[in-house]
Amino acid sequence: MRLFSDYHLHPQGHRLQPYTLELLQPWADHARAIGLRDIALTDHDRYHRGVDFDEIDRLRAANPDLKIRAGIELDNDLVHSAAGREWVEKNWDRLDFVLGSVHFLRGDWAFDHAGEEAEFARRDIDEVYADYYERIHAMAASGLVDCMAHLDLVKIFGFRPIRDFGDVLDAVLSEIHDADLAMELSTAGWRKPVGELYPSDEIIRQAMTKGIPFTTASDGHSHVQQGENFVRLATKMSELGIQEVSIFERHERATVVL
Ligand SMILES: [Zn+2]
Ligand SMILES: [Zn+2]
Repeated sequence: MRLFSDYHLHPQGHRLQPYTLELLQPWADHARAIGLRDIALTDHDRYHRGVDFDEIDRLRAANPDLKIRAGIELDNDLVHSAAGREWVEKNWDRLDFVLGSVHFLRGDWAFDHAGEEAEFARRDIDEVYADYYERIHAMAASGLVDCMAHLDLVKIFGFRPIRDFGDVLDAVLSEIHDADLAMELSTAGWRKPVGELYPSDEIIRQAMTKGIPFTTASDGHSHVQQGENFVRLATKMSELGIQEVSIFERHERATVVL
């Protein structure tokens, strides 16, 4: 089984860098070099001003052998996401794919940044998880996303809840299913302190019983991070019995058998 699609990529990295062919072409080159044929550019919505659909069209014209999807990662950034949502609505028809994610918790806390273990240690972990999944639920119900990114990102530093969150997760997965969303399998978790795929095997199995489809993703913030650990991910998917992957064009989902 060979994975061919990476649906979570950040050409702008962690700062505003307007799209140009110069910025984007290395992503196409590296994708091709490692056997990817279908990629989605999904910069953070706070950098939406850098996204240029005409430049994406130029990239497509220069790389006709690749499927290149115009996307965005919409999160719950308290400062920027109102503008981000507005931008997604305005550009919906030019976008192929919108990821939904939660990066901020109570108190405008960017919990997944390096060094935030200390704050996790200070807080009530059950409350952190409850807050996180409430926000995930709201994002899934927003009507603005096609797929949920790194669903259990809250485990990033390895802090686990004491309370059983089975019922909460079941409700979240039902919402994802009812909203007809996909969910990504993200290798990014393997390079974080938790050292575990996003989401966990248990969540993946539950999602499978509900019939939620999956995308494959690296969350690469550099072009060389594309497809990171995809051989390992393919093995994991075989073990779990996942034989299909979802791709998107203008928010239309198609299923490809691997
Ligand atoms: Zn993210
Ligand atoms: Zn991301």
